[in-house]
Amino acid sequence: MNSLDEYLREAEQAHAHLCAGQVLGVRLAMLGLAKLGIEDPRGKDRKRLVTFVEIDRCATDAVAVVTGCRLGKRALKFRDWGKVAATFVDVNTGRAIRIAAKESSKALARQMHPEIADKNQQQMLAYREISDDELFTTQWVKVDLPPEEFPGYKGERVVCELCGEGINFRREVSRDGKVLCRACAGESYYRPV
Ligand SMILES: [Zn+2]
Ligand SMILES: [Zn+2]
Repeated sequence: MNSLDEYLREAEQAHAHLCAGQVLGVRLAMLGLAKLGIEDPRGKDRKRLVTFVEIDRCATDAVAVVTGCRLGKRALKFRDWGKVAATFVDVNTGRAIRIAAKESSKALARQMHPEIADKNQQQMLAYREISDDELFTTQWVKVDLPPEEFPGYKGERVVCELCGEGINFRREVSRDGKVLCRACAGESYYRPV
């Protein structure tokens, strides 16, 4: 694993700026990897890790940088819960740890550095200094990962009986004896205009 500063330099490039969320995300991911004993997530351990993120904000980009887990590789899973938290799954052993930023960290940053007026600057510095225990809660968890969730899953592709579009990774649903995509089954996030 690289140092905090090395990861922060990379995160800054990937995210186009350095911010408190990046520091939090880098530390959160480094802690998760350390707890799992995964030393080289972007090298020799690259097929060992699946990461669930619970927010689409600054910290998420930093988690992707440290872990090497990406959406397009199916190793990064997004659960839109609006929480600065992530779960790291070692697919070799089945061990998994969920790490969440503590709500108290902002107040602690204020307490530690009242001399810095800019909130982002204040938190950026404090989030480097605060201990893991004060910054995060950690919990060992079990994540059910069916075969189709694994990055290397090769499954057959089915076609939606209504719209004719192809569906991968067993995302189809059965409705009244028909095989449908989730949009046609009523779960659509868009509507035609
Ligand atoms: Zn940011
Ligand atoms: Zn369809």
